[in-house]
Amino acid sequence: MQQHRNRAVVLGASIAGLLAARVLAEHFRHVTMIERDPLAPTPRARRGVPQGAHTHGVLASGVEILERRFPGLTASLVEDGAREGDIGLIGQFIVQGCRIQKCETGRLGVVVSRLRLEHELRDRVLGLPNVEVHQASTATGLISTADGSRVTGVLVRSGREGVNGGSTEAEIGADLVVDTTGRGSRTPIWLRKLGYAPPAEDRLDIGVSYTTATFSRRPDDLDGDLYRVVGTAPPNRRVGVAVAVEGDRWSVTLAGYLGSKADREPQGFAAYARHLAAPDIYELVADREPLQPPITMSYPTTLRRYFERLQRFPEGLLVFGDAMCSFNPIYGQGMSVAAKQADALAYWLNRGQAQRSARRFFVEAARVVSPAWELTVGGDLGFEEIDGPRTVRTRLVSRYLTRLLAVARNDADVSRAFLEVVNLTAPPQSLLHPRVARRVFGARQRTPHAGHAGPSSGAVAVDNREGEQASVTGL
Ligand SMILES: Cc1cc2nc3c(=O)[nH]c(=O)nc-3n(C[C@H](O)[C@H](O)[C@H](O)COP(=O)(O)OP(=O)(O)OC[C@H]3O[C@@H](n4cnc5c(N)ncnc54)[C@H](O)[C@@H]3O)c2cc1C
Repeated sequence: MQQHRNRAVVLGASIAGLLAARVLAEHFRHVTMIERDPLAPTPRARRGVPQGAHTHGVLASGVEILERRFPGLTASLVEDGAREGDIGLIGQFIVQGCRIQKCETGRLGVVVSRLRLEHELRDRVLGLPNVEVHQASTATGLISTADGSRVTGVLVRSGREGVNGGSTEAEIGADLVVDTTGRGSRTPIWLRKLGYAPPAEDRLDIGVSYTTATFSRRPDDLDGDLYRVVGTAPPNRRVGVAVAVEGDRWSVTLAGYLGSKADREPQGFAAYARHLAAPDIYELVADREPLQPPITMSYPTTLRRYFERLQRFPEGLLVFGDAMCSFNPIYGQGMSVAAKQADALAYWLNRGQAQRSARRFFVEAARVVSPAWELTVGGDLGFEEIDGPRTVRTRLVSRYLTRLLAVARNDADVSRAFLEVVNLTAPPQSLLHPRVARRVFGARQRTPHAGHAGPSSGAVAVDNREGEQASVTGL
């Protein structure tokens, strides 16, 4: 591999930063990562990644790319207690009250805790001979040429004020700076300082809260499945996700939209699960104690920054991961989209110099962000209370999706098509393909039953604690 460029600096050493460093290491002699947190030698939650201890799903698209970038990753995780299998067979989705039929997809799924995954990636990236990390170091600004047209490095503060003689600030020069500092990224502010406009943003106020607990796992829980996702069924605002993680544990998250929130006290936690759109997760947690007290996190708004629309942008700077788009976490997309952006970065780096403008990267990156963003926005707008761009098209697509979900209960082909889209291995438009649409419109719709989505029930009426009966009927 030719490493004809000298130094790349990556800001942030979470999932997106690690993926960026992995790709950059093939193109630069030195890759320097700047991470604000001190990094522990074992999988451990840390301040800069408050979501780290919450349940994380890796989509099949993400697994595919991670395995390609880090050969043997899955085997190594499995050796340490993670599990793998066909994503359509090892677990089940229940969406809008419809229990999607299990089916073979040929796509590999891996269930593992986020902390273990990040730790494994970090070990591998820092094991590369040309990658180093400055931990407990904060990027505080950009350095540029006098006219501001090119970023040439970063300002980094190390140590903490007043601790061991106080902090120091230093400049680190770079041919390329990649900002992966997450949704709190300061690039929009730094751009202003350099005389550039910040990117336009889209936000959706979704008022999501996360409450997560771990439980010990018995082999016959959920009939031996390794994950269960019970999605919302508007107006029911509750979501439940259970993922079997290493150490024979369940990581269980109960999430709520628009201010709905599970209790941190164990009995209240289980009581919240009782009013999910299906009983699976309640039955899983009802009679067991969490291994540690549940933890919580708020996620008030989604955020997308449109760097690709900027007319002017300095060369030598890229932004990726949550710093570009912070998705509603309920859809489990962030890490897999970061993996896709790493592919976009590799593609960009392999282009000739003349075609390597920052704008070109942002256009490539937006190509992988857009389908995921549209999927989540479409889902979130299922709640009338959430403000957002509702058009005739989005309403039609939403009605079509409701019908498709109802059909996917009993039709493996439709179920597979749905799982491919949810896993970002196929674009959302593939659900409109005549092969799928014929089955969606050809199927007879059943009348909803009252109660939860039982193991083989059809479309259902959903009881929810917010006090309404929501009927999910298809068209
Ligand atoms: C509650 C929740 C649940 C989620 N569940 C899923 C899921 O199931 N599946 C999934 O794929 N994704 C999920 N996500 C999203 C996922 O966590 C992120 O997409 C993923 O971590 C990639 O983010 P990132 O690396 O871009 O940024 P982050 O993970 O936010 O990391 C940013 C890093 O930058 C560091 N940093 C910040 N500022 C500075 C600075 N000035 N200088 C140096 N370092 C700095 C931070 O310490 C941190 O290490 C979830 C998110 C949340 C909030």
